[in-house]
Amino acid sequence: MKIRTFFAVLLCKLARGLLRLLRRGGTAFPGRVALKVYPQVLGVLSRGVRVILVTGTVLRRLGRGGTNLPGKLALKIDKNILGELSRGVKVTVVTGTNGKTTTSRMIEQAFADAGLNYFANRSGANLISGITAEFAMHSTLTGRPKCQFAVIECDEAASKTVLKYLKPEVIVATNVFRDQLDRYGEITHTLNNIIEGIHHTPESTLCINADCSLIASIPAQVPNPVVRFGVNVPLGGDDLTEISDAPHCIHCKTEYVYDYRTYGHLGAFRCPKCGYHREAPQVAVTAVLNLGVDTSDVTMAIGGQEYAVHINLPAAYNIYNAVGSAAALYAFGFTPEAIVHALGAFGCGFGRMEKFDLRGTPGRMMLVKNPAGCNQTMRYLAGLNEDATFVVCLNDRDADGTDISWIWDADFERLAAMGEHLRHVFVSGTRADELRLRLKYAGVDETKIQVYYDYDLLIDAMCASEYPVFIMPTYTSMLDLRGRLQKRLGGKEFWE
Ligand SMILES: [Zn+2]
Repeated sequence: MKIRTFFAVLLCKLARGLLRLLRRGGTAFPGRVALKVYPQVLGVLSRGVRVILVTGTVLRRLGRGGTNLPGKLALKIDKNILGELSRGVKVTVVTGTNGKTTTSRMIEQAFADAGLNYFANRSGANLISGITAEFAMHSTLTGRPKCQFAVIECDEAASKTVLKYLKPEVIVATNVFRDQLDRYGEITHTLNNIIEGIHHTPESTLCINADCSLIASIPAQVPNPVVRFGVNVPLGGDDLTEISDAPHCIHCKTEYVYDYRTYGHLGAFRCPKCGYHREAPQVAVTAVLNLGVDTSDVTMAIGGQEYAVHINLPAAYNIYNAVGSAAALYAFGFTPEAIVHALGAFGCGFGRMEKFDLRGTPGRMMLVKNPAGCNQTMRYLAGLNEDATFVVCLNDRDADGTDISWIWDADFERLAAMGEHLRHVFVSGTRADELRLRLKYAGVDETKIQVYYDYDLLIDAMCASEYPVFIMPTYTSMLDLRGRLQKRLGGKEFWE
């Protein structure tokens, strides 16, 4: 071991000890100390791999799943480290605003079924630092890959940088919705980030959501081979009043005409002026047979043949995740039978329709990040037609989006319309008060609304609920609440 590596390890270990003394959880802390005390130590290392391995191991042992810091360190040392570490790995990248994690899990299931030697960035570290760290963890010290395959979820804004280095076999572009405006700017800016990334990798097969007028504009701008996916029928809610993030033609700004809408701005769009329109997808949902509480059944056309598909997740928006992952697997060369099996078998987690046992009361956690996702979750809930306790947690930290005005675009009126089925509404998070106000304006009976500023009290109330509990948190409130739930009720740590 080089003396410099030794110093880096020592610093991390010291930081870890200090951290334990402080009994706090900042994952970036050990590395920050290392960088402050001895930046030149890290600067002169020939490769970043060792640093990642060391700090990553230390952080994992700390039990806090430090996912971004080790990669950040490595990138400081070697900008092209991701390009080097991913050489020889067949990568599938999933990007877009909504559905990245679930789509990745579905793809992963087929990989696991086939016994492929793969890895995935499961812990939600989907920026270049987290992705780099994940590749380093799955490399030898000399930078040789340990796996042949990888399923990588990539933040839509980070895709322009990540795809500079990563050359995937397949890229899935799920959709573009308005999301955390303060972070990403205009919706077309997000789209352009994705396109810019794709320009770096012209040979990757693109799986394009044919129903998203924004994503569907990509193929005309890039030379890549394309597989389109989509939903050929309305998904139960032919509600054309629902907010659209992209009502106007991307080319000529004329308002789109829709034969049907599935949700948000997704659907069979066409521009009456310039003729830009949805193109028929090769992988498509052709019929929705059942939208159940826990699962859905659809008919899916894959490469010209129709298959009955059981999707091991409820809610209309997961049908998009299923058809998107089916397109990716089809592009990858999986048989339709293998695809159908994977969609019926995969498990979900990390706040995506994740199930909890609240001391006998069933709980489900459904992460929301933007109005479109929020509306879909509430549509699912309203469609259950059964008594429920509903919990919304709204934070306004950076990872949630500091601008919470989107709650006024979300259709909380759907909750009010549930009437007697909506038994209790618990609100929590750093912006619980605004949320209560929003719900009041939506027409939710005020006597049903209870504000909890403390997660422990919230958890007590959830456990005491006589009705199934549906929890809808924003990102950081999901992390906090999950942490508390695990501490109080037990359960696996999420990064395992
Ligand atoms: Zn047009």
